[in-house]
Amino acid sequence: MNTSFDLVIIGSGPGGYVCAIRAAQLGLKTALVEKAKLGGTCLNVGCIPSKALLDSSEHFYTATKHFSEHGIDLASAPVVNLKQMISRKQKVVDQTVDGVKFLMDKNKVEVVYGLGSFESANVVKVTAEDGSTRMLEAKNIVIATGSEPGNLPFIKLDGERVITSTEALELKEVPKNLIVIGGGVIGLELGSVYARLGSEVQVIEFADRIIPGMDGSMSKELTKSLKKIGVQFYTSHQVQSVERKAKAKTVQVKAKDSKGQELSFEGDYCLVSVGRKPFTSGLALEKAGLKTDDKGRIAVNEHLQTEQAHIYAIGDVVRGAMLAHKAEEEGILVAEYMAGQKPHIDYNLIPNVVYTWPEVAGVGQTEEQLKASGRAYKAGSFPIRALGRARASMDIDGLVKVLADAQTDEVLGVHIISARAADMIAEAVVAMEFRASAEDISRISHAHPTYMEAVKEAALDATGKRALHM
Ligand code: FAD
Repeated sequence: MNTSFDLVIIGSGPGGYVCAIRAAQLGLKTALVEKAKLGGTCLNVGCIPSKALLDSSEHFYTATKHFSEHGIDLASAPVVNLKQMISRKQKVVDQTVDGVKFLMDKNKVEVVYGLGSFESANVVKVTAEDGSTRMLEAKNIVIATGSEPGNLPFIKLDGERVITSTEALELKEVPKNLIVIGGGVIGLELGSVYARLGSEVQVIEFADRIIPGMDGSMSKELTKSLKKIGVQFYTSHQVQSVERKAKAKTVQVKAKDSKGQELSFEGDYCLVSVGRKPFTSGLALEKAGLKTDDKGRIAVNEHLQTEQAHIYAIGDVVRGAMLAHKAEEEGILVAEYMAGQKPHIDYNLIPNVVYTWPEVAGVGQTEEQLKASGRAYKAGSFPIRALGRARASMDIDGLVKVLADAQTDEVLGVHIISARAADMIAEAVVAMEFRASAEDISRISHAHPTYMEAVKEAALDATGKRALHM
């Protein structure tokens, strides 16, 4: 049994396991410590299971609402089999987790199951479920312990009726009335799942719009689209109380609007999706001379080093967007930095995606950020409904917006709400990585008929209002 490693990583989410692969590729003897299942939040209770349910529920919704228009008549109305839907989701998760185990074996990364905690700045103690312990000596250590669901101080989560995203991925019935607290990514994705399956969904959001971090026009369009599937929105509402009577099947939520008027909501389930918080409990950071900041994060420099230069921290447990692909990039960066390379991440070019339908995706600066910074910019946009491809598939909601520097024409931000926006945003990321101008994008041939044509048209619109099909 090995006791000494070049690198010990604590946490096997997308940050930790990708870091392990890259470190192994670079010849570092690596151990990966995990207290639960390989793959972390993302694979087990985050990205993958939520997308599995989003896809299943979208199929159901399409079959119910659009098949007949496509000329497909079903002998009887489709019925939701939630048990099967959840079990298919679990199969997808299990296969993906097995895939990570395969990758660890292939790259000769030693996986050590148990809770990792610091014994000292160079020793990680791993306590297995049966209480046995193992000491791992490490030249370098990466903390990749991720995050857990956040909550409001006055809400008592009971895991049955007042739930987080984790339980929402495992429900045994389709809620009749689902109250969602928080109109961010997770609330809207899981709210969409159940709205499509027939729940009446009410979203309460403190800010004056949903997905407040994204470009304002995206939030406006998404509100319109989600209203079409029956989701009701209460923005600028501050939740005051969430109460479930003992053993009762109803939850009462009280919220105040911006004028102080109180509204009362009643549902059989309440999903609390008010963000996530960094997870560091059990790590015994103090034994390594480390501490967390006022937001519970581990402070790091531009190389993701903590106060102890050989201890790094990555992913949801440090500053920045809580996204799987951001955690992965950071995992790669620290492995390469340790190996003597000079890697770099441009955080401005980490795309943000919401997997509702239509999907929303953005990269770079929003129009609100450009206005606030005083930078002179020009904007071009193009409606998805003007595309032949969109009409053929009947997914006509949405738009593409391209923001470019007023003088140089360099693309500063691209924001898309459309079917397949999550994939479409890659063109914008590549263009911006190469510091393309809006005109560069507008001169690239885009296959016809595709949704991607909207990116070219929006770029044409940004360069002198030259869109062709508008
Ligand atoms: P995590 O994935 O949280 O992994 C941390 C791991 O560390 C866990 O396995 C945990 O058990 C382990 N661990 C913690 N402490 C210890 C310890 N002391 N010892 C041993 N092991 C420990 N992001 C996207 O980019 N796209 C999406 O579509 C998306 N969808 C999401 C949907 C939902 C419902 C949720 C909740 C999140 C979603 N996210 C999505 C966010 C994404 O899951 C996280 O940003 C990502 O998982 C962070 O990766 P990480 O490696 O930092 O940590």
